[in-house]
Amino acid sequence: MTTSRPSPHAQNAVGKSTDHTSETDDLTAMREVVRTQAERHQVVTAPRWPGGARIAVNFTADFDAMLLRRLLDEPPMQRAKGEFGGRVGIWRLLELFDGHGIKTTLFVPGRISQLYPDAVRAWARSGHEIADHMWEHRVPADPQVERTHLLRSTEALEQLSGRRPIGTRSWHSPELLAELGYRYNSHDAADHRPYFTTHDGFRLVNLPFHYAFDDAQFFSFAWLDTDNAAQRIADPERVLELWWDAFRQQYRHGGYLNLCLHPFLSGRAMRIAMLDRLISRMKQLPGVWFTGCEDVTQHCLGLEEEH
Ligand SMILES: [Zn+2]
Repeated sequence: MTTSRPSPHAQNAVGKSTDHTSETDDLTAMREVVRTQAERHQVVTAPRWPGGARIAVNFTADFDAMLLRRLLDEPPMQRAKGEFGGRVGIWRLLELFDGHGIKTTLFVPGRISQLYPDAVRAWARSGHEIADHMWEHRVPADPQVERTHLLRSTEALEQLSGRRPIGTRSWHSPELLAELGYRYNSHDAADHRPYFTTHDGFRLVNLPFHYAFDDAQFFSFAWLDTDNAAQRIADPERVLELWWDAFRQQYRHGGYLNLCLHPFLSGRAMRIAMLDRLISRMKQLPGVWFTGCEDVTQHCLGLEEEH
C-alpha cells in the first residue's frame, strides 16, 4: 500500500506527530485547511429534486469481489469470501433492486470486467449505472501509471456497459478525472448532501456517503486485517433500524441518502432480506426518488446552470 494512495476503504491514516511544531503553528495550519476547504466545497442548497421528491436515495454497490482482499494479502479464506460476492452476492442484489424497480449505481474496479463480465453486463442491461472503482482497487502514486489505470478501467467498463462512465468512487486526482470526462466522485463524508468541489477551472460533484451507511462497518468480518476484538457481525435488524432512522431524518428535511453496499457482504441471504424490508418501508412514503448517482449528478449540474 505504500506505493499507492489508499483506497476509500483503507483510509486509516491518523495525524502525524506534531513534535516539531508549536500549537500556534498547528492552529494556523488548521485554519488554512478550513479556509481552503470552505472555498472548494459548495453545497447544493435546496436541491429541489425532480417531481417534487423529498429525498434522493442512491443505493450503491462496490463490486470489489476478491480484489481488495488480494491487495491486502489476506489469507485464502478471506479471498474466498470476496469470490462469494462475484459468484452469488452480485446476482442477489441485482434481483433485489430489479424486483423493486429501483435504479442504482454499481461501482466496478476495471479488472472485475475480466473476472465477472456477465454480472456487470446484466446490471447494465437492467438499466443500472456502471461507474468506476479504480482499475484494481488502488490509485498508483505515479501519475503516468495512475492515468493508465483509469483509462483502462474507463474503457473496460464502457465496453461492457455500452456507456462511458461519468462517475467514480476513488482517490483519483480531480484533474485526471475531469480530463477523462468524469463529472462526479462518490466518497468522503464532508457533507450529508451532494456538493461541488472546485478546482483549477472546473468543478466536480461529490455524492458523499458516511461509514454509518456502509455495510462493511456492520458486516465485514476481519475487516482490513482487524483483530478479533474488532469484528463486525451485526444483527441485520439493528442495521435496518439505524438506516431507517437515518432515512427518515433526511426525508423530513428534504435530503439525500447514499448507501454503500458490497455484494460479498450484503449479498448474504439474511441481509438481502433486511434490505428488502428497508426498501419496502421507504417505498411506503411518497416522494422518494430512488435513482443512480449519475441522475443526481446531472440534476445538480442542471441546477447549477439555472443560476
Ligand atoms: Zn471498494
